[in-house]
Amino acid sequence: MRPILILFLLAGSQLLSAQDSALLAQKKVLKLMGCRFELTAVAQTEQQAWDAINAGIAEIQRIENLISSWDKHSQTSKINFNAGLNPVQVDKELYDLIYRAEKVAQLTEGAFDISFASMDRIWKFDGSMVEMPSREEVNKAKSKINWQDIVLNRKDQTVFLKNKGMRIGFGAIGKGYAANRAKTIMSNMEGINGGLVNASGDLIAWGLNHDKKDWLVNITNPKDKEQALGWLRINGLSVVTSGNYERFVEFEGTRYAHIIDPRTGYPTTGIKSVTLVGPDAELADALATSVFVLGCEKGLELVNKLERTECLIVTDQDEILTSTNLKLNYF
Ligand code: AMP
Ligand code: MG
Repeated sequence: MRPILILFLLAGSQLLSAQDSALLAQKKVLKLMGCRFELTAVAQTEQQAWDAINAGIAEIQRIENLISSWDKHSQTSKINFNAGLNPVQVDKELYDLIYRAEKVAQLTEGAFDISFASMDRIWKFDGSMVEMPSREEVNKAKSKINWQDIVLNRKDQTVFLKNKGMRIGFGAIGKGYAANRAKTIMSNMEGINGGLVNASGDLIAWGLNHDKKDWLVNITNPKDKEQALGWLRINGLSVVTSGNYERFVEFEGTRYAHIIDPRTGYPTTGIKSVTLVGPDAELADALATSVFVLGCEKGLELVNKLERTECLIVTDQDEILTSTNLKLNYF
């Protein structure tokens, strides 16, 4: 769940007026993957726009069925049930997603780790926790986290979690992947000139908006959701935000985000939000989560090394830090 909603500048419009040269935009807001999705399609006709939106929704639902760890029947659950027991053969799509997740784990030196999920039993970010778990409990669950114990066999297309009690989860990457896929499906449909998929603040836009202009997105101020820190022009780019104020836990005045530091087993502190801008929503999603774990200095150092990738961090002290080439526009 993303706390910082990125409001795009066409907000509120169901059907945007068709001026002489303008295009039609249709928008649908609905709950998918347990969060708010917004799909917009810009087309020549209303029908084309709706066909694209419906195809995008079907694609997201299909992905949800594949990667959900809540659905007992998903392939992901099967991998988790077989931890320490058997390798599980999975669809190529899931295999490849896990493979890419391992690449990000490598890139971030383990800050990103889909096997964080053994911690789901220890840390709850829904307001139900009344006391800090004991260090023993944390260490026990932490011992199950290690992306290098996710054994992939490409020939057999199997995934094996080496140790009993290990689990994987796609909370930090799934919405970005779904947004990418919905974009691919929608943009290839007939008559589609552009569109935008916003998965609770993980968004990707392509082509042109109804005015035949680039898409503009506001970056919301985490201190005040009604205020924007600035805006970005995004054409063919994704903007993804991870934040700490819808799902968090507080102990003795310290706020912990819903992101686990795999090195300590404790949730991260010190950062309110991370916005990542880049060409690929899945990678941006994974990196936004990773920067929370890496912290400001190491996080920015990593982002500055990556091509066409920029980042904005708001710290707990409301300090705003950005990567070298972020082109944030101010009102
Ligand atoms: P995001 O909102 O994209 O930052 O993702 C946060 C979600 O990612 C959490 O709710 C967990 O499901 C998952 N997660 C938590 N910590 C990690 C981590 N270190 N690496 C990968 N996924 C994580
Ligand atoms: Mg993420």
